Amino acid sequence: MARVAVAGAGVAGLASALYLSRSGHEVVLVERDDTPLPDNPSDAFWWDRRGAPQVRHSHAFLARLRNQLLADHPDVLASLLEAGATEMDFIAMLPEGMDRTPMPGDEQLVALACRRTTFEWVLRRAVLSESTTELRHGLAVSHLRRGTRQRGVGAGADRAPVVTGVALSDGSLLEADLVVLAGGRRMDVPALYAELGTTVEELEEDTGIIYLSQFMRLRDGAELPRQVGPIGGDLGYLKYAVFNGDDRTFSLTFAVDSKDRELRRLLLDPTLFERAAANLPATAAHVDGRAEAITGVEVMGGLINRRRSFTDSDGQPLLTGAVAVGDAHTATNPLYGRGCSLALVQARALAAALDRSTGSLTDVAAQYEAESQREVEPWYRAAVSQDRMARTAAQGRPTNTSGPISTSGPTSTDEVTRAEFMRSLLREGLFPAMRVDPVVLRAFLAMFNLLRPPDSLMTDSDVIGRVMAVYQDRDNRAPEPALGPTREELLECLAQRSVSRPQPRE
Ligand SMILES: Cc1cc2nc3c(=O)[nH]c(=O)nc-3n(C[C@H](O)[C@H](O)[C@H](O)COP(=O)(O)OP(=O)(O)OC[C@H]3O[C@@H](n4cnc5c(N)ncnc54)[C@H](O)[C@@H]3O)c2cc1C
Repeated sequence: MARVAVAGAGVAGLASALYLSRSGHEVVLVERDDTPLPDNPSDAFWWDRRGAPQVRHSHAFLARLRNQLLADHPDVLASLLEAGATEMDFIAMLPEGMDRTPMPGDEQLVALACRRTTFEWVLRRAVLSESTTELRHGLAVSHLRRGTRQRGVGAGADRAPVVTGVALSDGSLLEADLVVLAGGRRMDVPALYAELGTTVEELEEDTGIIYLSQFMRLRDGAELPRQVGPIGGDLGYLKYAVFNGDDRTFSLTFAVDSKDRELRRLLLDPTLFERAAANLPATAAHVDGRAEAITGVEVMGGLINRRRSFTDSDGQPLLTGAVAVGDAHTATNPLYGRGCSLALVQARALAAALDRSTGSLTDVAAQYEAESQREVEPWYRAAVSQDRMARTAAQGRPTNTSGPISTSGPTSTDEVTRAEFMRSLLREGLFPAMRVDPVVLRAFLAMFNLLRPPDSLMTDSDVIGRVMAVYQDRDNRAPEPALGPTREELLECLAQRSVSRPQPRE
């Protein structure tokens, strides 16, 4: 049995603690936020979690995460459902008229819907009910402690500096065989490693967006609108989506170009936020008066794609006795909703590496990093390339449809043409194919939910053939309906002095 110190009790820290404690290890979680567990999920929504400010932004919990909980910790999935989370069975929601013949793998296409605070509350409660787990909140991990290991787990000759615990913000020391750094995207992991003389290489790329979210609750007697079509859209200058929550809540999120100060300023006003939502097809019905806002408009910037490398050129871990998980390891654009799922994937990989270990913590870290490279890195690369493509396409688009979206340097005509083609292929090939073709829809859902690799749509010749057939037929059908107004139209609508507020539905 190893003694493990986990720095950070967000999703990655909690998931690591869950897997490790249930594998028989002793776990001490250290969380900087002074946040005892609230009594119930409703109180958890108002939790003071300033160390993870994204908790009051929309979160999607993809099928990969739900399936992993079902396989490994079914009691936690059951607790989530009991706390109000719902399962989103994509097959039950197939578009009207689509062939409903069951296909292999259908049972996998189920995601979870709830507020992020509810998810975290259930996870923390499950972790704290393990007898070998302890949580110390209101304390931060300030340094890694270097030492030599004389006995117990991981003793032996190690090439890399050996970590034997952490120093905490109150000056105390916490000894551990293994330290798990789970401090999220803001944790300066390279600085912690640098104190021990090692260099963590980072690749970082700004997503170029900021998030604006608002939570709403259905009024008494009102129901969610029936979802027909996508839950959001990408207008180039604005991305938007609606997410079901628990306890009769839902949230609306806009992702605005971080340089578009004008639109950001307007959308920070709750009245204008709601007015914008009323002008977008996927969100209009949600703000027709059936629900009322329960938060202001929350804003979050600094959204990056970032990958840190924890091995040297020989593939050997930089440190023995310390690893990073979750956003402290790899962060991806929140728009794709992958962070929590990938955190769970890493937590499982870490526990499996420790279980397989014959005592060498260097081997544990090497196996864990190899698994992260296989399972997490492709999603980092996919996020970066998708973001670049979106930026390039926006640069090439005429300003009367997209607004001031130039976020990086000059782009070659070839790149713009390629990006524009890809957008057109998505809009006039993939998306219409997904409305009619159950094979294409399933392939997309499986990829989107991390059940298939990010390039799986592009490498499946059957899917490509089906999408291209729809694309090539584009001139023989009505043009795709607009996903929303142009930027100018939206600004004009937001500039109107007053609008009559929608009346509550009967
Ligand atoms: C706006 C936004 C929307 C998102 N939407 C989605 C989504 O829809 N679906 C999805 O799966 N993912 C989403 N993500 C990503 C997801 O939130 C993260 O991937 C996930 O929270 C990672 O968990 P984590 O534990 O690594 O970090 P966090 O959840 O951020 O937790 C880190 C914790 O560590 C603590 N901490 C920091 N430093 C220290 C220290 N030195 N000592 C002790 N404690 C410390 C912090 O207080 C915090 O509690 C979104 C992210 C953002 C920013």
